[in-house]
Amino acid sequence: MSIMITDECISCNACGAECPNDAIYDGGAAYLYGGEEKPALNDEHTYIVPDKCTECVGFNDEPQCIQACPTEAIVPNPDHVETKEQLMAKKEHLDKIGR
Ligand code: SF4
Ligand code: SF4
Repeated sequence: MSIMITDECISCNACGAECPNDAIYDGGAAYLYGGEEKPALNDEHTYIVPDKCTECVGFNDEPQCIQACPTEAIVPNPDHVETKEQLMAKKEHLDKIGR
């Protein structure tokens, strides 16, 4: 399952620097997917792109962003449940198309 950011977020930006998949963006900011710019998924606070989050699978044992957050605003996303194999396949896809 990918990871999401709740309204507890204070937009401190501590999490973004930790993401190996470039999956974390400022509220209102466009995100990149395969080198293409896409519209922001959240205008209110920092957000995670589900199509880019692998729960850090392929890079680290634990989601790096969760540990970085001072407000415990980063939690599993129940709308994007994925197996470890699916997460690894996502990582490999991103390796090919670019982040
Ligand atoms: S869990 Fe890992 S890949 Fe997903 S947003 Fe957090 S740091 Fe990025
Ligand atoms: S570290 Fe937590 S509070 Fe800071 S931007 Fe990320 S989700 Fe928001």
